[in-house]
Amino acid sequence: MKFRLRQTVLSPALAAAFVLSLPAQAQLPGALKTQVSSSVNNAWPALEGIYKDLHAHPELAFQETRTAGKLAAEMRKLGFTVTEKVGKTGVVAIYKNGPGPTVMVRTELDGLPMEEKSGLPYASRAKASSEGRESFTAHSCGHDIHMTSWLATARTLVNMKSQWSGTLMFVAQPAEETVSGAKAMLADGLFTRFAKPDYAFALHSWPLAHGTVGYNVGAVSSNSDAIEIVFKGRGGHGSAPDKAVDPIAIAARFVTDVQTVVSREKDPKEFGVVTIGAINGGTVGNIIPDSVQVRGTIRSYSPAVRAKLLDGVKRIALASAAMANAPAPQVDLIPGGTAIVNSEALVQRLEPVFKDAFGDTKAQRMPAMTASEDFSQFVDQGVPSVFFFTGVYDAKDVEEAAREGGKPIAFNHSPFYAPVPEPSIKTAAQAMSLAVLDVLKR
Ligand SMILES: [Zn+2]
Ligand SMILES: [Zn+2]
Repeated sequence: MKFRLRQTVLSPALAAAFVLSLPAQAQLPGALKTQVSSSVNNAWPALEGIYKDLHAHPELAFQETRTAGKLAAEMRKLGFTVTEKVGKTGVVAIYKNGPGPTVMVRTELDGLPMEEKSGLPYASRAKASSEGRESFTAHSCGHDIHMTSWLATARTLVNMKSQWSGTLMFVAQPAEETVSGAKAMLADGLFTRFAKPDYAFALHSWPLAHGTVGYNVGAVSSNSDAIEIVFKGRGGHGSAPDKAVDPIAIAARFVTDVQTVVSREKDPKEFGVVTIGAINGGTVGNIIPDSVQVRGTIRSYSPAVRAKLLDGVKRIALASAAMANAPAPQVDLIPGGTAIVNSEALVQRLEPVFKDAFGDTKAQRMPAMTASEDFSQFVDQGVPSVFFFTGVYDAKDVEEAAREGGKPIAFNHSPFYAPVPEPSIKTAAQAMSLAVLDVLKR
């Protein structure tokens, strides 16, 4: 109250001097927010064209040469020092702007081997070779949204370079969908030939209302392990099972029994999934085959749950075969991605920045996704990081989908996935620019 009274009696000149004498940072958030959004708005007409071009020309994991070339050219125009072909098709763009931390901003380059059915005028009709077969390709995970907002963020930060100090390390990673591109870039010297960043950020489009920014502390994606099992039997005639060992019956028992690892062994409060996605064995009805291949995926957040699920899957596979007096199966549990674990301190630092920029209801903590993402490879090198989510749909469509019986909206990887480019990309670029500015501001 006292403070207010003093303010009211200040002359205009004194009041101005008083404001100027405040520490510079106290005035920054509002001004930064306005500059960021006007920079992104100014860039939009050019960005919209780039987005639609990327959307119409998706390339598959480690084949992203056209996409990488486009991004590299744009970054060179902005004054970044660009290195291509890092980890086969990856791009590293560095911008040095005085002393300070190095901040990595990652985008993904790849699309998916699937046909887009969104009906959008700029929908992809592109095709490429996938596992030896020709396939349609589609940006159904929104990586084109991420690339475009990555370019917009780079442009905004260059425009505002008088307001921050440090080094930008913009990384365009190949092959995220096959969870192998991050590993390939690290193996090719990403953190040694260039620099190990002090902070790393990445974002992912998500079927939330556009304008929404979601984040959380701790694990925000899952550990992923692949199941590859071959149950061995002894082939024979379908009419004489006593002369054979039937791997179909063993596999069938395994598929149902393995779910007790999730329902009876895992802590029910903890997240964990075992899914069998493929069973291949046999040819016709009257032959007992001599082997059956079973493939699946294991997902978890915590290392303890992961260990429990891996152990349980293996134990039940061996036991299913032993019960039938069959040879031991070949059990391969192949590690995929680890969970992305966000830095609690960094999330707490960014939360007020996001809330200030997008509002209390639009900037919110959200549950972890059950999917996996290989951004964790960078985080696991000991880089404090935040991976956050940005919405892509009209709010009314999201509300309608949440109502019982309402029209569902397409999730990532759906052939109908159709993000609304504006303002989804603008929000993503604003959020990422503010995150970087917050750790690099002078
Ligand atoms: Zn995806
Ligand atoms: Zn993705």
